[in-house]
Amino acid sequence: MKLTVLGIWAAYPKANDACSGYLLTAKGKNILLDCGSGVLSSLANYINFEDLDAVVLSHYHADHMSDIYPLQYAIDLLIRRGKRQEALLIYGHNDEAVFHTLNYKEACIAKPIKEGNDQNIGGVSFKFFKTKHQKTCHAMRVEVDEKVMVYTGDTGWMEELAEFARHTDLLICETSLFNQQKGLNEGHLTAGEAGRIAYISNAKELLITHFPHEGNIEELQHQAQEEFRGSPVLTAHKDMIITL
Ligand SMILES: [Zn+2]
Ligand SMILES: [Zn+2]
Repeated sequence: MKLTVLGIWAAYPKANDACSGYLLTAKGKNILLDCGSGVLSSLANYINFEDLDAVVLSHYHADHMSDIYPLQYAIDLLIRRGKRQEALLIYGHNDEAVFHTLNYKEACIAKPIKEGNDQNIGGVSFKFFKTKHQKTCHAMRVEVDEKVMVYTGDTGWMEELAEFARHTDLLICETSLFNQQKGLNEGHLTAGEAGRIAYISNAKELLITHFPHEGNIEELQHQAQEEFRGSPVLTAHKDMIITL
């Protein structure tokens, strides 16, 4: 499977960049993980929207889903022009009324994600795990050809997350805070905690992302690396591609 980073910023995007969004390419399918502000523009560098097979949303904060709405217009226009036949399936939890806004005309269909059992999305096996956040949020575990990738979405510290991420080849972990900011914003991880989750879960590689706008990202990398001893901590940037 291949992961293309489309955006990395918490809350709002920097110039010519985007909030959370990752394109997963596996088994010939294009699956978008989160669709925050700016992600649609980044995505257009890689695929035509007629070739997008599904979207999976971790939660309904705008930095993870606001570009869903222009994406709905795009899919509707493509269908009406005969360039796309299938409706786009958009997966998210149905604990909040926002879920129903994922439906759009005949173009987009909201599909509930399920915790626990494996869920087949676009031919790819997903598992979901509820994280600790201000709104209901799910981490996702993707398995393709014996390779495993886990994306945390947004979360505060919870040791159970390390269990969910056990033996992952790639852990994509939110890193919203510097160690010295611990407690500043509940429902988010410090860099050290991200490194600690990677260490406990025995991840092969850690990709830190979902960055704050102030401070030095290199310092976040160092703080995560102190906890994830001996294994690589990669710093996400737009257009980064990781193949597993
Ligand atoms: Zn966020
Ligand atoms: Zn959030």
